[in-house]
Amino acid sequence: MDNLIDISSYTTFNLPSKVKSITHFTGEENLEEFFAKNDNVFVLGGGSNIILSLDLSDKAVLKIENKDIEIVEQDENNITLRIAAGEIWDNVVSFACENNYSGIEAMSAIPGIAGATPVQNVGAYGEEIKDVLVSLEAYDRIEKKYVTILAEECDFSYRMSRFKKDWKDRFVITYITIKLSKGAPKIPIYKVVQDYFKNNKIENPSIMDIRNAIINVRWSKLPKPSELPNCGSFFENPIVDKVFAAKLQQEFKDLPLFPTDHEDMFKVPAGWLIEHAGLKGVSFGPVGTYEKNALVLVNHGGATQENVIHARDEIIKIVYHKFGIMLESEPEIIK
Ligand SMILES: Cc1cc2nc3c(=O)[nH]c(=O)nc-3n(C[C@H](O)[C@H](O)[C@H](O)COP(=O)(O)OP(=O)(O)OC[C@H]3O[C@@H](n4cnc5c(N)ncnc54)[C@H](O)[C@@H]3O)c2cc1C
Repeated sequence: MDNLIDISSYTTFNLPSKVKSITHFTGEENLEEFFAKNDNVFVLGGGSNIILSLDLSDKAVLKIENKDIEIVEQDENNITLRIAAGEIWDNVVSFACENNYSGIEAMSAIPGIAGATPVQNVGAYGEEIKDVLVSLEAYDRIEKKYVTILAEECDFSYRMSRFKKDWKDRFVITYITIKLSKGAPKIPIYKVVQDYFKNNKIENPSIMDIRNAIINVRWSKLPKPSELPNCGSFFENPIVDKVFAAKLQQEFKDLPLFPTDHEDMFKVPAGWLIEHAGLKGVSFGPVGTYEKNALVLVNHGGATQENVIHARDEIIKIVYHKFGIMLESEPEIIK
């Protein structure tokens, strides 16, 4: 009998994994003392973007669970909210939509906690956390003190921030502060969302209509982790330059390309590449691509981190062989 703790149920991919200890951070705990006692710490949110290995017996988990949503400032146009990192992100979106505060409604139903959203600059259907984030509060594990970090210091880009680069494992985010609009929400331009409005005869969508549309569209394309464990999109959409994009489109006439912030660079949907490499609904042992959406890897039951890595590597190899594009995976592999 070991004294290790199984944390598989704290994650959406449901991989077996045991850790040394787990501490639930509710806001009261003294983080300086905690880090003085524990050196190999892993910060856990909602576990929706991590792939755990079987043996993490050297790791102490700090699970972020503090809760609060506080209005810090408002005028007739905007409202600023300070949100405890452990708030479930979708509860934050629901609170904002119910009160007609716009700016995050298209990010409805993204699993995980508010404090994790800056880590990979969470985004969906044209909105990203970077567009509303003002600042965040965090415990700095190197300087051993609490700090406030401004959004512009985080170097956000598509699914990326300094928390995944030079700040990796340095900060425990304890609060985020976001600024939302009291004006009309932007209607997502995505065809699937527009089709939802058309089919439901909604002409001037309210913020709640947008939230409902997004929730419906998302769950028609993504498996619910409680029914089929997964981490959402497993691969990032690769970005290619215009010369390569033109060459690809010559060979693959239907290849969709999306603009980026740089006029010479284009985003290629990774799901399209995987599907057109013949890999939609294909399994590699207990891990496979989802039958309705090739971008999502699912755990058909009994998978381990090794099975996920094997499936990931096979997909990357096959897609590279067909398109000359090297896919990169999105969830963090914890070893
Ligand atoms: C069905 C499904 C759909 C998804 N759709 C989207 C989507 O549309 N867009 C999108 O961007 N993502 C999406 N994701 C991925 C995931 O939901 C997000 O990345 C989310 O922000 C992860 O939050 P989490 O709390 O689960 O983080 P975790 O998986 O627990 O952690 C992820 C990383 O963040 C770090 N971390 C977490 N909390 C903190 C903190 N307080 N301080 C410091 N570091 C922290 C962890 O150490 C880890 O490195 C989806 C996932 C699923 C399962």
